[in-house]
Amino acid sequence: VMNQQTLAIHSGYEKDAQSTMAVPIYQSTAYEFRDTEHAANLFELKELGNIYSRLMNPTTDVFEKRFSALEGGAAAIGTASGMAAIFYAIANVAEAGDNIIAAKEVYGGTTTLTGHTIKRFGIETRYFDVKNPIEIEGLVDEKTKLILFESITNPSVDVADIDAITEIADRHNILTCADNTVATPIFCKPLTLGCDLVVHSASKYATGQGLAIGGIIVERENLVEKIKGNPRYYHFNEPDESYHGLVYSDLPLPLFTLRVRLALLRDLGAAPSPFNSWLFIQGLETLTLRMKQHAESALEIAKFLEAHPKVKKVNYPGLESNENYAVAQKYLKGGCSGLLSFEVEDKETAQKIADATEIFTLVANIGDSKSIITHPASTTHQQLSAQELIEAGVPGGLLRVSVGLEDTQDLIDDLKKAIG
Ligand code: PLP
Repeated sequence: VMNQQTLAIHSGYEKDAQSTMAVPIYQSTAYEFRDTEHAANLFELKELGNIYSRLMNPTTDVFEKRFSALEGGAAAIGTASGMAAIFYAIANVAEAGDNIIAAKEVYGGTTTLTGHTIKRFGIETRYFDVKNPIEIEGLVDEKTKLILFESITNPSVDVADIDAITEIADRHNILTCADNTVATPIFCKPLTLGCDLVVHSASKYATGQGLAIGGIIVERENLVEKIKGNPRYYHFNEPDESYHGLVYSDLPLPLFTLRVRLALLRDLGAAPSPFNSWLFIQGLETLTLRMKQHAESALEIAKFLEAHPKVKKVNYPGLESNENYAVAQKYLKGGCSGLLSFEVEDKETAQKIADATEIFTLVANIGDSKSIITHPASTTHQQLSAQELIEAGVPGGLLRVSVGLEDTQDLIDDLKKAIG
């Protein structure tokens, strides 16, 4: 078994006839069939192979296999964005009349997706406080199809108690899905801790330099055990009429990502571009090294902010004073990533600081090598109501910081000057 950093550089790539060291960009819409029998076999899944790049692509395949290896999963499927990954993870299990349970403390896009967009499709979302997962128990019923949460939450920077969540989920035979975007598999591997699915915005640390939008869904080994014969997931156990009677739980293949590919990518089509998959492959090569530095600098900056008289509160799970410290010690190994937030007096003060930094750039993103400062209440969470803002843990005086890879002391000096 290879270690993380070796997997990040080699897994999932078998050199083709050209023996290229770098993974090639297979920039092609479609693939030639040897003959009509070969074509029919591919469509019938008697043989696995390339058909059309909305469904699969050899460059994307390397990205998927490599990401799956890093997460300790069985298989993965790339998508055009993190939001597409989250939507497909939900749409793969829930339909009109069903419900999902989601943490209140999630990325703003996930809040609008779960609270508004899927509601229009008849899927209800019931919310729990990630700091109090016992609430899940009272929300479950026979129509509950998924429990969705972020391992490290954005932007409130809480850490999920994965054991507490999976214990309830497993008792009711419900799938769990962790958005592992902020923690990355370098610090947390939810699939090896009992979660069933992981989703990511690859647009963040996976690319690492803010180069491309993308997402991925990874499923754990032996997920079929939880799905086969489980009436909650009847659509995996009954013939899929849209795929001439295929029963997913009968296949000797990782069934969750396969169904996303064959049904959702086929019909909804948010497939990644091969070029973006190639960028993510480059990003993964240095992910371990970058994440160590992101986390080291973030901890130093958190300590500086904590000692600053004008800072009311610092949210970083690596600080011993933080309410998430014990949970973080349990689930995050080797660091707490590069995301932190801090609270100042009020909205105006926060806006003044965000406007005054020079190295920290005002951008609605995280997970870049370039340091970023965001004022969530006026940007990423702007579409949330005052009540939703409080529930998401985003007061007006909150500033979110994504610590980049610049010199740590330069970053501290920049914040010192801006806060005044
Ligand atoms: N999940 C988390 C935790 C995020 O921070 C983001 C984006 O900011 C997303 C999902 C959405 O990903 P994307 O922007 O790639 O669609």
